[in-house]
Formats: sequence, structure tokens, C-alpha cells
Amino acid sequence: MALGWLIRFLVAAVLVRMAWKFFSGLLEGAAERPRVAPKQGVMLARDPVCGTYVDRTRAVSARGGGEVHYFCSEDCRAAYRQARRGSAARA
Ligand SMILES: [Zn+2]
Repeated sequence: MALGWLIRFLVAAVLVRMAWKFFSGLLEGAAERPRVAPKQGVMLARDPVCGTYVDRTRAVSARGGGEVHYFCSEDCRAAYRQARRGSAARA
């Protein structure tokens, strides 16, 4: 008999927990809705040399082929320029 009560108690506890989660979720959702989503995140650009994603505002940049490329370091920029020079010489 004691086991039956224990199970009932556990089931009730789980139900209360679920209900609490549901309602707190509703409240959080209602509170968060008017807030504007942070659209301006970090502007990431892909380093064409090593493939790393870099923050455009802090990255080393170089113009090439009518667009701006961003690099994680001076080394990557130098490598990119060298590669371009090489391909230009070939072409
Ligand atoms: Zn890089």
C-alpha cells in the first residue's frame, strides 16, 4: 500500500513540475516577446586562406577582385596576396 502512495506522490510531483515549467515558460515567452532580437551580431567574414571566421571590425582586410577580403592575420593576407600575384602571373 505504501508503494502505491509513493507512486502517486511521485506522479503528482512530476505533474506539478511540468505545469510549473509550462507556466514559467509562458511567462518568459510573454516577457521576451516585445524585446527586439539582437540583429546586429558580430559581422563575421571567412578568411580565404586558412578558413577561419574573423570579426570584420578587427580583421586584417585587403581589396582584391573588386571586393574586400578579411584575414585573421598579416600572414594570411600576405599569403593571399602572394597567391593572387602567382595566379595573375600565370594568367
Ligand atoms: Zn587566416
